[in-house]
Amino acid sequence: MSNMLDSISDVLLMGPGPSMVNDAVYKAMGTRLVGHMDFEFIELMNAVKEQLRTLCNTANEVTMPMSGTGSAGMETCCVNLIEPGDQVLILHNGVFSGRMMDVASRLGAEVDVLEFAWGTPVLPGKVKEKLTAKSYSIVGVIHAETSTGVCNPVEEIGELVKKNGALYLVDSVTGLGGIEVALDKWGVDAFYSGTQKCLSCPPGLSPVSFSEKALEKLRARKKKVPNWYLDMTLITQYWQGQNRVYHHTAPISMNYALYQALALILEEGPTAVFARHRAMHEMLVAGLEKMGFSMFVEKSCRLPMLNLVVCPDGVDEAALRKNLRVKHKIELGGGLGPLAGKVLRIGVMGETAREKYVQRLLDALKEETGRG
Ligand SMILES: *Cc1c(COP(=O)(O)O)cnc(C)c1O
Repeated sequence: MSNMLDSISDVLLMGPGPSMVNDAVYKAMGTRLVGHMDFEFIELMNAVKEQLRTLCNTANEVTMPMSGTGSAGMETCCVNLIEPGDQVLILHNGVFSGRMMDVASRLGAEVDVLEFAWGTPVLPGKVKEKLTAKSYSIVGVIHAETSTGVCNPVEEIGELVKKNGALYLVDSVTGLGGIEVALDKWGVDAFYSGTQKCLSCPPGLSPVSFSEKALEKLRARKKKVPNWYLDMTLITQYWQGQNRVYHHTAPISMNYALYQALALILEEGPTAVFARHRAMHEMLVAGLEKMGFSMFVEKSCRLPMLNLVVCPDGVDEAALRKNLRVKHKIELGGGLGPLAGKVLRIGVMGETAREKYVQRLLDALKEETGRG
């Protein structure tokens, strides 16, 4: 009998996620199941929480992976911490801050938007003006904006948000595991990430972390959290404490995978992992520029793990991506929103940030474009 899985290709994943997965993580996913209330699984849950606290540089007790992809983390933070009529400010410079605006407004928040051109970072000076003029309940920003390749100055913004008194919401779906994340130092109150970017795990879990200030806001809600599945007041009873209370069946195999993926990062050492991302980014950019490609984002605010690349004249980005996938088994991403058709998005995330992979892409590009 033929099985479709037998014909799935071994693709080099260099798009905006998912990224390459280490064999040890694939193996972890195949570990036999124990029950989701089993004491051995609870020990593993505790270990995952501790690993996440280490990588996020936080002492937050409520630090755990939500079931669902990165978007579930965005929903979790918003649905638990926003009440109708809340004043919310979103710092907007890409697709994902746009989604944050949508999610917040669906919850009845009064959403103010401070907009910056796509491909440029949020400017703290502008944020300061806005935060001096009005007091907010929550201020949201994207750390690593995957649609534009920009790194936003989350630490500087954090100082301004603190003075305003608002909760500080940070999306680091693409940042975590590739660049430093320091929740306590930055004053972050609500944080979420995802497994399939720099954590190099299949998609399926979304690590989140809530500060004490965020938990106070949660406890003081006038009404129940309007989404049962993502209600932190319920989920924490399963993820914390001596006696665990069933909420929903944890995706056990995904938690095995996340445990293994985090173990790999912590064994190599976060500083070394970030340096590897930086070095592979530099190797990629040097090779691309030699072939006449140019970078969309200015050097000072470029993300190392997600590169927006403009093709040289005469090179069609869609055709190039197709040939790379079909002839070379390499996946790259295309542009999102207003950048569709204008740029390539090249990920060097997690396990993908290896010399052999970057070299393989550069060789394939040389062959396809006849340049360099
Ligand atoms: C990928 C991504 C998300 C959404 O994650 P999914 O896993 O696709 O749900 C959210 N924010 C940013 C910045 C992302 O890059």
